[in-house]
Amino acid sequence: MDFLPLYFQLTNKPCLLVGGGNVALRKAGLLSKAGAVIHIVAHEILPELHALAVASGGSCRLGDYHSADLDNKFLVIAATDETQLNAVVSKDAHQRHIPVNVVDSPDLCSVILPAIIDRSPLVIAVSSGGKSPVLARMLRAKIETIIPSAYGQLANLVGNFRDQVKARFDNIDDRKNFWESVLQGPVAEMVFAGKQQAAEEMLAQQLGEELAPGGEVYLVGAGPGDPDLLTFKALRLMQKADVVLYDRLVADQIVDLCRRDAERIYVGKARSDHAVPQENINQLLVDLAKQGKRVLRLKGGDPFIFGRGGEEIEQLAENKIPFQVVPGITAASGCAAYSGIPLTHRDYAQSVRFVTGHLRDGSCDLPWSELVHEKQTLVFYMGLVGLPIICQQLIAHGRSVDTPIALIQQGTTHNQRVISSTLQDMPNRVAQEQIKPPTLLIVGEVVLLREKLAWFELKGG
Ligand code: SAH
Repeated sequence: MDFLPLYFQLTNKPCLLVGGGNVALRKAGLLSKAGAVIHIVAHEILPELHALAVASGGSCRLGDYHSADLDNKFLVIAATDETQLNAVVSKDAHQRHIPVNVVDSPDLCSVILPAIIDRSPLVIAVSSGGKSPVLARMLRAKIETIIPSAYGQLANLVGNFRDQVKARFDNIDDRKNFWESVLQGPVAEMVFAGKQQAAEEMLAQQLGEELAPGGEVYLVGAGPGDPDLLTFKALRLMQKADVVLYDRLVADQIVDLCRRDAERIYVGKARSDHAVPQENINQLLVDLAKQGKRVLRLKGGDPFIFGRGGEEIEQLAENKIPFQVVPGITAASGCAAYSGIPLTHRDYAQSVRFVTGHLRDGSCDLPWSELVHEKQTLVFYMGLVGLPIICQQLIAHGRSVDTPIALIQQGTTHNQRVISSTLQDMPNRVAQEQIKPPTLLIVGEVVLLREKLAWFELKGG
């Protein structure tokens, strides 16, 4: 992080603006919103700028900048088009430890002005650390569209009730639950609908009621790797949960999207090394929910596809713990899309079958004769170790030695790599490569379409 975001209390603080044109005017607008006292020095000053300075209780001086202009200032902004002058202002300010911003020159700045989404008292700042203000502004435009304009009123309402809520709930978790039910429930909806008074009354009423015990479990599919493949619902619950149980398949980037103060518990499973045995995970979910926590069980891909999600919710149901299951994009869909291999195709595959290649006692116990039908795509999960056996058995049961097969490593991530070959040659091919898990195998004619659809692919080998 090149710049630490801080919010600057500038009410009634004298600030210096060097420059008198349109850029200075924009900056003065911001300073004025923050209640600063604006002092301007420039050779020419736009009338609107002059008016702003005067209205703020500040001053305007026509003439050269002098370092004495910095006396008693809390912040200085250089908004001139004279590079040399900007540099001098920056140097002087640095020497005196006064925060300085030089428009369009991040190197000369000790502070930078972010793009702002203003729902005061709620203020969101977006910064690219001076690398690309345009990108920051684009992001701001996006955020503007998703944050209802009444969020400011909502924040004010919460602010007015803070002390009362603090007095009502001394337990911090209860307080958090209460606020979340307010901010995500009908009170918030009323504020958004402009019914401030009714919202206030309802909040006061809820404050007098018993808090419902909050424990529940969200079994959420986190998709195959690319965080952009999360669903909105997954993200919403990730931001709501108090505790997160995640495993090896869930990328750090995705875990980072969970609520910042949520407790994170790694229950990861490598092939042979079960960090936490499945039974303990099931029990942990039950125990945490019984403590009143909102528990997020984050799983790679889809929780109901080779995810043991069924076992986890069985135990929750037995214990009468409310839960939600949120589907995720399974590895087969993600890898197929990101490597340009359609899983079905009118000409080449009328069905697709998801199969586990996990070896039990060194052998794959699979209904091989069902897997050798022509025009059927096979997707093997957990198939890397068993790859030689899989290829050999498919051939032994009648699939052609030339049947195309692809191995997709770390699909949908920046490390995605695709190796394609035939059933006959793939084991040797893979033996020569350094393969990193997780990997998925796709078998069938559709693999050949990849060449045609190469443009489709973002990354890969
Ligand atoms: N529930 C998950 C699958 C869990 S089983 C889902 O729906 O995707 C674990 C197996 O999934 C891995 O061994 C691997 O075969 C596959 N897998 C998961 N993520 C993958 C990825 N990003 N790239 C390739 N294979 C992946």
